[in-house]
Amino acid sequence: MHEFSFAYNIFKVAEATALKYNATKITEVYLEIGELTLIVPELLRQSFKMATHGSIAEDAELKIDITPGKIKCRDCGNISTVTLNEEAQLTGLQLFQCRHCQSKNTEIVEGKKANVKNIKIQD
Ligand SMILES: [Zn+2]
Repeated sequence: MHEFSFAYNIFKVAEATALKYNATKITEVYLEIGELTLIVPELLRQSFKMATHGSIAEDAELKIDITPGKIKCRDCGNISTVTLNEEAQLTGLQLFQCRHCQSKNTEIVEGKKANVKNIKIQD
């Protein structure tokens, strides 16, 4: 399950940070998730609950920020912002087209990562 491995990684990052500050509990986790990761926030929340069960992050609230995807054109060098269409949501596949010259010779430069931006802890 895609979301579960993300949730587990997020938990590990949050836990490592909390332990560094000698926290006993994590109450909130702020996330930035790229739109092109195809992560479904609702599934991520459920997975996070499972991943953190019995840990210091149990019952921590996930605050999710979705960041748009960006592609760079290999032909004209411009950056375009892209969003997923419905087909891509279903198949996970999409060729992105440059908004400037319509080339499909592009690479994804942003939107494929999930980052822990911040956490809120109790000590
Ligand atoms: Zn282009």
